[in-house]
Amino acid sequence: MASILDHQASIIDGKAIAQTIRSEIAAEVCTLSEKYGKVPGLAVVIVGTRKDSQSYVSMKRKACAEVGIKSFDVDLPEQVSEADLVEKVHELNANPDVHGILVQLPLPKHINEENVLSEISIEKDVDGFHPLNIGKLAMKGREPLFQPCTPKGCLELLHRSGISIKGKRAVVVGRSNIVGLPVSLLLMKADATVTIVHSHTHNPESIIREADIVIAAAGQAMMIKGDWIKPGAAVIDVGTNAVDDPTKKSGYRLVGDVDFQEACKVAGWVTPVPGGVGPMTVAMLLKNTLDGAKRKIEQ
Ligand code: NAP
Repeated sequence: MASILDHQASIIDGKAIAQTIRSEIAAEVCTLSEKYGKVPGLAVVIVGTRKDSQSYVSMKRKACAEVGIKSFDVDLPEQVSEADLVEKVHELNANPDVHGILVQLPLPKHINEENVLSEISIEKDVDGFHPLNIGKLAMKGREPLFQPCTPKGCLELLHRSGISIKGKRAVVVGRSNIVGLPVSLLLMKADATVTIVHSHTHNPESIIREADIVIAAAGQAMMIKGDWIKPGAAVIDVGTNAVDDPTKKSGYRLVGDVDFQEACKVAGWVTPVPGGVGPMTVAMLLKNTLDGAKRKIEQ
């Protein structure tokens, strides 16, 4: 007879779901091209030579090529002035073949990130970080033109795994502008009852234990233990943390904010790290670019 000890959560395969979404996008790009002779365009702007930023940018450009989105590559030197970067953004705002603009973060210290991001046209803000888009996300009865990619990816994983959100208790761990805050707003829009846990929250485990849906985005390796999770809960792990691992050639491996092995014994669903939320972020960027292009091309 199966006992509670045999419990095994369903693993949400973000890589497979993201691949399905990319195929759907490629088909839609094809249709747009046949019908209007136009394809979506995404400008990916990178400043400087940070290795991690370069690898994210090349991944995004490659993903564009795979689904037929034209990528406009803007590579600027580390010393570029804020004024020159803003001028570049204005040029891209004015280019009708560019439907989305992404400025890879972080920017060098001498450039004010907020100044640059607020210059991106709200209609091309495929990262969804423009204060107007975030503001609309936060307001009842308003819809942002774009939702931020990682949070949107988290909800898409829930939807495509058949997990309902309406009326559920959701706990988001983290309140950053790029993940925690927007994902909690999206969950609220989807009619969940949302609690946000942050670094000043007392006794986070007792709050997390009440959640039907946990979104972990604290950047704290394996912070959430199995006994912090309500049996049957859906656990979406955004955290991506490098921990030492001498058995690996690189000397490290990536883990989430959730103790995956323990979570598997308690949760109803759980995302792995890597292979959970990560691939969805790029898929949602492509989706936002497609949606922005459709709004322009089909109008
Ligand atoms: P962040 O800006 O550092 O924010 C972390 C948030 O977690 C803050 O709100 C912080 O609270 C909270 N926090 C930190 N320690 C905590 C603790 N012990 N208990 C409760 N809350 C705590 O990080 P982020 O940019 O949101 O990223 C979060 C994680 O997601 C990172 O591991 C990052 O690598 C990963 N990430 C993954 C993707 C992806 O595509 N898979 C995308 C983006 C980020 P305070 O506000 O009080 O400081």
